[in-house]
Amino acid sequence: MATIIDGKRISGEIRAELAEKTKEFQSKHGTVPGLAVIIVGEDPASRVYVRNKHKACAEVGFYSEVHELPADSTQEHVIALIDRLNEQENIHGILVQLPLPKHLDEQTILLRIKPEKDVDAFHPYNVGKIMIGDYNVLPCTPAGVMQLLARSGVSAAGKHCVVIGRSNIVGKPMAMLLLHDNGTVTICHSRTPDLKAQTLQADILVAAVGRAGFVTADMVKPGAVVIDVGINRNAEGKLCGDVDFESVNEVASMITPVPGGVGPMTITMLLQNTLTAAEAALNK
Ligand code: NAD
Repeated sequence: MATIIDGKRISGEIRAELAEKTKEFQSKHGTVPGLAVIIVGEDPASRVYVRNKHKACAEVGFYSEVHELPADSTQEHVIALIDRLNEQENIHGILVQLPLPKHLDEQTILLRIKPEKDVDAFHPYNVGKIMIGDYNVLPCTPAGVMQLLARSGVSAAGKHCVVIGRSNIVGKPMAMLLLHDNGTVTICHSRTPDLKAQTLQADILVAAVGRAGFVTADMVKPGAVVIDVGINRNAEGKLCGDVDFESVNEVASMITPVPGGVGPMTITMLLQNTLTAAEAALNK
């Protein structure tokens, strides 16, 4: 049986540290880090995510504001709001909750956020900084995975790391962070032939595919550390990851569960990025 990497516990630890750092920040600067979240439309899942972000900010002592815009908001209206938040001194991070309604141009909107306030690290400027290893903010989910590994005593150095998935939000930056941690990294994707031959090489296997039960025990090297980024619903409607937990648990040395693994880390890393952005803004 593998050791469970408890994302809920590790996330709680980091949030307690962030709350302490926020107090220090406040006594030094006389203000607290501030996050603005923009949501357009009524998507219920997005509303829950936004509410959770707002609550998480309060928990660590940040200021936060939520801008709920109607589903038929125009591109100009959203851009005007971002422009205002870009200049607002008590806001250090801006996040646009995705997905946006179809009539809005996501790229144009995301690019409008000043790179210094881009706490999702989606702006090409920040993506480029990550590529050259000179970064301030990190994409939240891959950064959360790196924290889970580090706080479980796992370094990528000298290891073969295999990432399944090449999205801009998870797979690609994940591979880059493992590389910066001196791992030897293979990125697999939907066009990879003989995926199993690749995954069996992995000392650290990260699954970011979006398919329930995709990674099975026969694809995992005995003793591997298995990180499950996937969030899916199985046939019974139960929340589950990309990894067939029951069987892989018998082969891996460490494994993240879903829920309670990578998921809780993502908002925590958003808080970390907001503090980092606030420090950069006030230490200018
Ligand atoms: P995506 O759909 O953008 O990317 C999926 C990737 O999987 C693609 O790069 C594709 O090439 C690869 N893929 C698909 N089929 C494959 C196959 N048969 N073999 C090998 N590779 C294959 O998804 P994403 O945004 O990267 O998210 C991946 C998963 O992670 C989803 O389940 C998503 O919900 C979840 N997610 C979780 C968090 C979190 O906070 N825990 C955050 C973001 C995404």
